[in-house]
Formats: sequence, C-alpha cells, structure tokens
Amino acid sequence: MRDNEGRIIDYLRISITDRCNLRCIYCMPEEGIRQIEHERVLTYDQIVRVCEVLAEHGLKKIKITGGEPLVRKDAVKLMKELKEIPGITSVTITTNGVLLEQYYDALVDAGIDAITVSLDTLKPDMYERITRRQERNRVLKGIQKAVTENKVRIKINCVPVFGLDDQDIFALFEYARESDVDIRFIEMMPIGLGKQFSFVSEDSIKEMIEEKYGLMTLCHEKRGNGPCRYYSVPGLIGKVGFISAVSHKFCDTCNRVRLTSDGFFKTCLQYDCGVSLRPLLAKNATKEKLWDAMEQAIRLKPKAHHFEDKKADNKDEVRAMSQIGG
Ligand code: SAM
Ligand code: SF4
Repeated sequence: MRDNEGRIIDYLRISITDRCNLRCIYCMPEEGIRQIEHERVLTYDQIVRVCEVLAEHGLKKIKITGGEPLVRKDAVKLMKELKEIPGITSVTITTNGVLLEQYYDALVDAGIDAITVSLDTLKPDMYERITRRQERNRVLKGIQKAVTENKVRIKINCVPVFGLDDQDIFALFEYARESDVDIRFIEMMPIGLGKQFSFVSEDSIKEMIEEKYGLMTLCHEKRGNGPCRYYSVPGLIGKVGFISAVSHKFCDTCNRVRLTSDGFFKTCLQYDCGVSLRPLLAKNATKEKLWDAMEQAIRLKPKAHHFEDKKADNKDEVRAMSQIGG
C-alpha cells in the first residue's frame, strides 16, 4: 500500500491500552488522563481483524505499544495471534519494562521479534523524578533477565529530558558493552506534555559520545523497522541509535500508520488525520469496507510534520502520547 506521496506503508503501531503504571512527566500527567471507557476499547478480535485486512495489502511489521501494553490482560496472547497472520514478518513491543521480568518467558514463547524498553536513566532519584514512580529496580531486573537469557533482541530507548549529565546517559552504555543491546536516543517531540520540554539534539549527544569514546561509524546494515540511524561506538558491542524527528526529519521515508486503543486509524503522529474504524468494526463491516476506509486515509497521509514550526495547526493532534503510543 502506498500513500499519495508514493511512500510504501508496511508498518503499524498499535496502542492496545491508554492505561499505564508509570507517569512520565513528558507523557502523562500525575493524575493520569481521562481513560477511554472500556466499552470503547477495541477487542483483540477487532485488532486482529484490522491487521488481517492490512496484511492483505502489504502490512509486514507490527509494534505493540500503549500506554503500557503489558498492563492489558492477555497482551501476549494478542501478540501471538498477530504473529500468525500471513504476511506479518515482525511483531515487536515497546514497554516501560516494569512487568518485563514477569512476562519475558511468555513473550519469547509468543515469538516476539524484539523488545524495546524505555529507560531514560539508571539514577534512582532521576528515574523517580521522570516517571513519578519507584519502579526502577523492577525494570532493571527485567532488562537483566532479557540480557542474560538473550533469546530476543533488546533495545533501550532513552529520551533526554533533564540534560545528559543529570540523567547520566553513559551509564546506559554498560548494557551495550558486553551484549548486543542497542541504546537509542529519542529527541523529545512537541506532542502533548512533550511541548513543555526542549529537545536535546542528536548532534550534541554525538559530540559528547565522541569526546568520551572516540569516533563513531555509521552502520549501513538494517537493524529495525523505523527511522533510527545506528552507529558503532568503540568499545561497545551494541549500537547507539538516534531517532531524531526534530533535528533530522524523516517524513519522506515514513512507512508507518497507527491504531489507537479506541480504534482511530491514524496516519501521522502530529496531525489528527485518519479515520475511526470503531463504527465499522462494531457493525462487523466486511474486509472490503474496512480496507476502503483505511486506503482512503492512507492516501491522504500528511506529507510531513511541522515540529520545527511552533505555530499550532488546527489539525494538530490533541491526544496525549500515552494514547497514541509513540
Ligand atoms: N509505555 C511504553 C513505554 O514507555 O515504552 C510504551 C508507550 S510510550 C508512549 C512509547 C515511547 O514514547 C517511550 O519510549 C517514550 O519515552 C516515548 N515518548 C513519550 N512521549 C514522548 C515525546 N513527547 N517525545 C518523544 N518520545 C516520547
Ligand atoms: Fe507510561 Fe510509556 Fe508514557 Fe511513561 S512513556 S507514562 S511508561 S506510556
């Protein structure tokens, strides 16, 4: 499937819940957000149906996200079902890691292709300041189990929020020193609460890394589904990656669409563009009808975001990142 810009769309990110067991300051307010009522949340059967239709039209890769995906009951069962859809070559998850130790074995059994753990710092006080919860040790245990068992590819995502030294970002590199764990830096995006923070640029992080570790070299091999650019860093087995939507815009190669937990099929992170599939799914619409709705939305996928331009557009997204899934 292609949009009107000629971009091939083969990657779907599904937010299976807007609930979360953390309250990261750039993503969710302390009191949480008004949660989507249970009856509005898509059932797993409905999610599978959407994926089956898309897979018939070229969908290959699925990311399960949230909120925190592992807080939704039977999330792993869903992932297993999605893996079995003909044409789907990769199902991966992004999690805050709090429940990773508990679910790691089940994720492996389900055939998950990669696990991304979001962890912005190892420092206990800073972790609590960012997430407003004291779950750091559980996350570390989960990562430790995943690294020791080494059955699935692991990546760690870090959003610099308070400055690189304050978050002691190089402590995260220890995971990449002896194992093939990738450490990826994500520039803060001006979506929802993220608007209140400034982003730390890829170039400034690279400069710090090179000062400390020596010259990095760009990797040409493909390592994931998305826009991350990976580098080899002297002394590390894992790679260091950058997802820099603000300073290195990658819209011209965007291959993704999103599905929110209440069934909004969303074609660009920044805009409220797309179509609600919930009414169609509730009516048990045919595959053709579902595809018609999604195809039209895909064709009109916006050409690019406008993160660099602070002026709000009246089509700007009003959902929180915890509802979209990143
Ligand atoms: N709860 C899971 C987690 O934290 O990994 C999955 C959902 S979370 C919304 C997905 C990713 O989005 C996380 O890595 C998080 O750090 C990132 N994120 C949230 N708000 C962001 C923002 N404004 N800019 C950049 N990344 C953001
Ligand atoms: Fe929850 Fe993930 Fe948002 Fe943090 S970034 S509040 S863990 S959804």
